[in-house]
Amino acid sequence: MSDILGSEQFKEFYKAVSIEPCDPSEYIKNFIEGAQKGLSIISEEMHIGFCELFINAPSNALDIDGTQERYVLFEKKGNYDSTNGMRDTFVTSDFGIIQIVVYPLGDYSWKDEDEGEMEFLFRVLFDSCLKVRLATLLKQASITDPVTGACNSLGISTQVGKLCATKTIDKYNSLFFNIKNFNYINQRIGSREGDNVLKSYSFMIREFLEKGEVFGRLGGDNFFILVEKDRTEDMIKYISTRRVLANGEDKPIELDITVRIGVYNIKPSDNQHKVISSAKAACEFAKRPSYDDVVYFKDEMLDIVTVNQEVSNNFKKALQRHEFIVFYQPKVDLNTSKLISAEALCRWVRNGEIVPPAEFIPALEKEGTISGLDFYMLGEVCEHITDWKSRGIEPVRISVNFSRTNILNRKLADKILKVIRNHKVDPSYIEIEITETSGYEDFESLAEFVDFMKENGVQTSIDDFGTGYSSLNLIKDLNVDTIKLDKALLEKITDAERNADQSVVRNIISMVNELNMKVVAEGVETDAQREFLKNANCQAAQGFLFDKPMPKEKFEFRLIGERLY
Ligand code: C2E
Ligand code: MG
Ligand code: MG
Repeated sequence: MSDILGSEQFKEFYKAVSIEPCDPSEYIKNFIEGAQKGLSIISEEMHIGFCELFINAPSNALDIDGTQERYVLFEKKGNYDSTNGMRDTFVTSDFGIIQIVVYPLGDYSWKDEDEGEMEFLFRVLFDSCLKVRLATLLKQASITDPVTGACNSLGISTQVGKLCATKTIDKYNSLFFNIKNFNYINQRIGSREGDNVLKSYSFMIREFLEKGEVFGRLGGDNFFILVEKDRTEDMIKYISTRRVLANGEDKPIELDITVRIGVYNIKPSDNQHKVISSAKAACEFAKRPSYDDVVYFKDEMLDIVTVNQEVSNNFKKALQRHEFIVFYQPKVDLNTSKLISAEALCRWVRNGEIVPPAEFIPALEKEGTISGLDFYMLGEVCEHITDWKSRGIEPVRISVNFSRTNILNRKLADKILKVIRNHKVDPSYIEIEITETSGYEDFESLAEFVDFMKENGVQTSIDDFGTGYSSLNLIKDLNVDTIKLDKALLEKITDAERNADQSVVRNIISMVNELNMKVVAEGVETDAQREFLKNANCQAAQGFLFDKPMPKEKFEFRLIGERLY
């Protein structure tokens, strides 16, 4: 085989195995085809009867299952000697192995002087193969989430886009889901271990996928799946609860991962934006307390989500412009009928209209910006109290709502006290109402918060008790001063037929009393309710029967007046 390296055939071979830029998903196919073509050009000259290539790479974040591939690059059937081959093995930078094996044509036997040429041939094949692998990994990196190895958002939209382009997208439904209380999990086990939890959960999901289905992570604890239509319910069931193990300080912790899921039934004409954003919008609803954990998309959801987005975008500016104002709603002692305290409720004056909190608080809670509003309200209330005092008007205790999502933040308690102190307001004028926003009871943080407030003279209450997740069992060890009964409980007792409901409410009140806490009933609208509550030993009530929430100026008349209802 003298001078083969300088020959025209070798130049042709070299050209065939060189990689031209192409769509990265085509790299390996193009390389194999090129190598097959190239080897057929030089096989005779180099006495090659058979050549194969193995790629064996360990799994890593970009290549979860690892790669074990075998390609036959050249074969002269029945005309090579497989007992007399040559092979070379190369180690790649990611500790993979590329191995090339050749057998001579017919009964040819390579001589010592052929070796240099064979080695060169191996080198050329290896270099090209390595380039292909690197290019593929690079491409993979751009579409893979490094934490879980699932698709990232680019990967998801690329795959969804391809299915839309080939008009096969309606074989699938899209699911957008978010892990419940992942913040809490992160705080409990640390964010590094939190990443491992995401990884284990993703691994379980990947195991459950069928070919063609798409799975990815869209940042944080948000995930996306494209599932075959008739597997949708099975998939929902599967992803809804998974148990994963995390490393605790001294022993493993079992964590039940539960999720909230938005489901979208994909139509043939949908584009990739529609497929992803509709499932996402439904998931936003699944996060709301009044919805189930699995929500199926409806068209009107997109409008509402857009409004929420607008709220978040305008919130900061609105705070600076003082567009939020405090309304006060009196609380009345049921025995003496006297005004005893009031709740500060937020209103947004926007373009001359008064927007109620239900229209913007959920968006702010979701965004995590709610504490900005809560502190703004606390500041305003402190200023009003100072103002009343300076004008000789004796205030009552004012309760300010704080979203429970923030209670996990240990600095919150300090910050609340600081605001009160900076305004030189006596802390006994302030009460903090902890709103019910999260299904997870982080009892320890909550208890710490309540104790700290008490030590510093600030009362606390649990808002909206009796609905959602609150339970007496939980709060019996909590040092809160007051339990506020949700108005939904009262609605039930209005109906005289419903004796069972009445006795539930009566029992709740008596148990709370036994635990030495006060009860305030919310949403009292009728005299019958007032009578019922009074007889059930409920100390105080708040509701339209007495007063609706009102601006500061109007509330001042209640403070100045005889304070009787
Ligand atoms: P909440 O703290 O449970 O406040 C009581 C809600 O019930 C108020 O609604 C009040 O206007 C309404 N209400 C009072 N009496 C009656 C009645 O007799 N009948 C009926 N049907 N409703 C009555 P609002 O002001 O719309 O506030 C809704 C929720 O928004 C509040 O529920 C609270 O969770 C939240 N919120 C309001 N202001 C703030 C705030 O500054 N920060 C936070 N985090 N949440 C706030
Ligand atoms: Mg409240
Ligand atoms: Mg309430």
